[in-house]
Amino acid sequence: MTESGVHLRGLTRHFSARGGPVVAVDGVDLDTPRGSFLSLLGPSGCGKSTVLRMLAGLDSPTSGEATVHGLTPAALRRDHAFGIAFQDHALLPWRTVERNVAFPFEIAGLPVDTGWVQELLRMVRLEQFAKARPWQLSGGMRQRVAIARALALRPGVLFLDEPFGALDDVTRQRLNVELQRLWMEQRATTVMVTHGVQEAVFLSDRVAVMSPRPGRIKEVIDVDLPRPRTLEMTSTPEFHRYVDRASELLFH
Ligand code: ADP
Ligand code: MG
Repeated sequence: MTESGVHLRGLTRHFSARGGPVVAVDGVDLDTPRGSFLSLLGPSGCGKSTVLRMLAGLDSPTSGEATVHGLTPAALRRDHAFGIAFQDHALLPWRTVERNVAFPFEIAGLPVDTGWVQELLRMVRLEQFAKARPWQLSGGMRQRVAIARALALRPGVLFLDEPFGALDDVTRQRLNVELQRLWMEQRATTVMVTHGVQEAVFLSDRVAVMSPRPGRIKEVIDVDLPRPRTLEMTSTPEFHRYVDRASELLFH
């Protein structure tokens, strides 16, 4: 029996909106092993971010449960056990790149491990930009800062909400390769929200395809492709079979 990674049971979230009640997430059951990469794939509004927010303790379920490594979201937060990055990077504009990456240490009341911050900047290939401010960087570079920051406290758990959603396809593909490399080095239990089929298949061990109103998991696809995955692999029939299956579920 593998150690528990992500564990969702009957996870449900209702909202009362002006147009009436919304069932954002409805009875989601899901399990992944520790250290695996999970994607929540689905169209806008199917509850992906709500699931992630509940895992991170930023929102509470109406019913059901969510744990990672057997810990509740509250316990994960208390232990600074997860890193998180969003599409809109949310970097602090007045801080340099390196001080943005160091920020989680300050939040946690820990001394900044400057050697590790520099190593992280090397890993995301931004060591030349340590003293730059966010506005001096391209969108792709800002997302790399956000991911470096998410890894600052060496979290065993990583949450990513459309981390490359705002980027062009070429940049996005390149960053997917980098993200895979970082993940293979760190082996954090990862949950990534995306509406990109290629991206989900490329990065994931398991893809949970979701559908909206009510937000449910339609099917879970296990992606049994060797790692490291390369961009060349994305043109193989094996890769395309996964993409076709996920697309079929998304569009029908
Ligand atoms: P996704 O990330 O897949 O695009 P979300 O999880 O953001 O979807 O939203 C799922 C559904 O829940 C949507 O219909 C959205 O409008 C609704 N929703 C999300 N957050 C709130 C909120 N705070 N109040 C009311 N409705 C919300
Ligand atoms: Mg979302």
